[in-house]
Amino acid sequence: MLKGQNALVTGGSRGIGRAVVLELAKQGANVGFFYAGNRQAAEETLELLAAYPVKAKALQVNVADRAQVEEAVKAMEQELGPIQILVNNAGRTLDKLTPMLSDEDFDSVLDVNLKGAFYVTRALYRGFMRQKYGRIVFVSSVAALMGNPGQAAYTASKAGLIGLTKTVAKELAKRGVTCNAVAPGFVETDMTGAMPEAARSAGLAAVPMGRMARPEEIASLCVFLASPQASYITGTVIQADGGLHM
Ligand code: NAP
Repeated sequence: MLKGQNALVTGGSRGIGRAVVLELAKQGANVGFFYAGNRQAAEETLELLAAYPVKAKALQVNVADRAQVEEAVKAMEQELGPIQILVNNAGRTLDKLTPMLSDEDFDSVLDVNLKGAFYVTRALYRGFMRQKYGRIVFVSSVAALMGNPGQAAYTASKAGLIGLTKTVAKELAKRGVTCNAVAPGFVETDMTGAMPEAARSAGLAAVPMGRMARPEEIASLCVFLASPQASYITGTVIQADGGLHM
């Protein structure tokens, strides 16, 4: 489905991002990914990628650092060639009730989740225009649509991604480039593994399907949106949340 295409995934070392990386490779795309600092996880992802006959490259890049992003995007294009698929997945949480969130806390979440995604998208934007083709996917969250106590910074960043999605979608709509957001509910990853048990079970109790998603269940949606088959879908926010928000 994606043979000969080149993809970049941020936060590809673990969790949802790793599942996206592997599904893209399974579909034939060459895949580069960024990770923040977990070298062991990045190497494990590269080992799993070795099962597929595609090019693969991992770079340690803090997406919140504009200069690092710009340099790394160039390095990735030199390695893989022009990039057709971008999955902006890197993200972090910092959960505190609003009055406890310092300026630094708030900024640190916005810097990674929102500005990081903006930096990577901007660095690839002209390349998509030149190719008159592209697929951009932002990994938002159902928490952006619902709100979630203790997640003011996180939900603001993820809601910001939805505005970014719709604007970039409109800017690039006539250029063969689509831009969409996915909004996962609870997914079995290190991020939810770090939640206090009481919050996890209260969250799960609200999911009509009664279980978390496997990362692969989010990856399949991201990769569909990244495929030529999703040619008439742009500017949307698609939930994969087991019915949590309806
Ligand atoms: P995860 O298991 O914690 O993995 C986070 C990934 O992002 C890792 O690859 C990490 O790299 C990378 N990353 C973090 N900060 C970064 C930075 N500053 N620069 C570059 N890479 C960075 O998270 P996940 O659960 O898979 O979540 C992936 C995305 O889905 C996030 O945007 C998250 O907000 C969103 N999401 C998750 C859930 C859920 O229930 N899990 C639900 C809705 C939305 P290292 O491995 O090097 O640390």
